[in-house]
Amino acid sequence: MIYREKPHFIIKKNLQKSKQKGIYFSDIVTPSILEDVCYRITNQKEFTYEYVENDYSDEFVPKSYNKGRLAIMQFEDEVNYITFSEKEIGGRNSSVQSVPTAFNIYYTNPYPKKRLYYYFLDVVGNAETDYQILMYRLMNTVGCCFLNADETLSSKIEAYNSVEDIMFNRRINAGKNKSNNSTYITKSNSSQIEVYGKTYGANKYETSMICYALSMLRNEKQKITLYEILEGDLKELPEASLNVIRLMGGIDVVATDRMLEKRAFEENNSLRSPKYIYNLGMKLGKKHCAFCNCEIPSLIQGAHIWSVADIKKEVLLSFDEKLNFATDGENGLWLCENHHKLFDDNILRLNEKGQLYYSDDVEKRHIIYLDDITKRKQLSGEIMTKKFQEYIWRRNKAI
Ligand SMILES: [Zn+2]
Repeated sequence: MIYREKPHFIIKKNLQKSKQKGIYFSDIVTPSILEDVCYRITNQKEFTYEYVENDYSDEFVPKSYNKGRLAIMQFEDEVNYITFSEKEIGGRNSSVQSVPTAFNIYYTNPYPKKRLYYYFLDVVGNAETDYQILMYRLMNTVGCCFLNADETLSSKIEAYNSVEDIMFNRRINAGKNKSNNSTYITKSNSSQIEVYGKTYGANKYETSMICYALSMLRNEKQKITLYEILEGDLKELPEASLNVIRLMGGIDVVATDRMLEKRAFEENNSLRSPKYIYNLGMKLGKKHCAFCNCEIPSLIQGAHIWSVADIKKEVLLSFDEKLNFATDGENGLWLCENHHKLFDDNILRLNEKGQLYYSDDVEKRHIIYLDDITKRKQLSGEIMTKKFQEYIWRRNKAI
């Protein structure tokens, strides 16, 4: 790159739909905004700038419209990528949806002296929902600096400091507003992290950012698997995001399409379906045995209430209906291996009030043991939905 004595901005003029909408990025990120950005990064107010067309490209700017709401500023021998918020914050993602794209462009550029910044335009709307704060923290974790957050946000943005920190906070966030759930993160043992992430529509932004942050924070022993929960249009994460995940390393990506789920359903009765685990996680939260509170990840499994074997016997149901029952998050509990086996063998049973009881033929001396390991004999009210009760009814009918 050329050594620049004076800060120099290059900004793609067109956003994706500029021509149709008549809104150009050059009208949003004006020279006076550039001056503020320049001053915050370089401590100087003098700079040069150019707004460029789609066919322009150089070593930092790809040929296309302005993907990522970016301005590129070169100063001395450094390049700064600045991505801008929307002006109006409407939907849950709208203030941050360009960020993964901006990060992808920034991260894949091999030039070493580079930095990534985020700048809040004069925003209308709430830029500080729990969900947005989660995203800001993920951005900060992957190295994005906030230029003017102090003036827009009331609280300070802090990076996450470990994989567990992200898991804990994602869960708290999910608990407050269930409609905001794109990802469920869990462990299958102490060093294996599983991310179940939706990939269509707005969900892909969160799934991408979570993976980037986890990849950066993981220690050498930790391995991450991303199960892409494909639904609807069956879209995987964008190629640019998958490319960054591959470059970062440490994450295996498994696309869980319906075909895969169907095969798993056909081939065995103990369905190990990512979609089912995701749905259970969304309802039940952190993995813990519902009967003994065990939280050791490698012991906790998804246990069907209405069993896969019994669902398969229903001649009146279509294959798709059966698969839906088998992967329904209402049709299950987190149980430890012991309790799962006892439940599957109908030694432990549930009535429709969610009360646990033992099969009549259990030997007396075994009852002492069962009493000892079974700490909870009443399921919580949150679990006992109407649908869940229906599954218990179906289960008990089949015994
Ligand atoms: Zn248990």
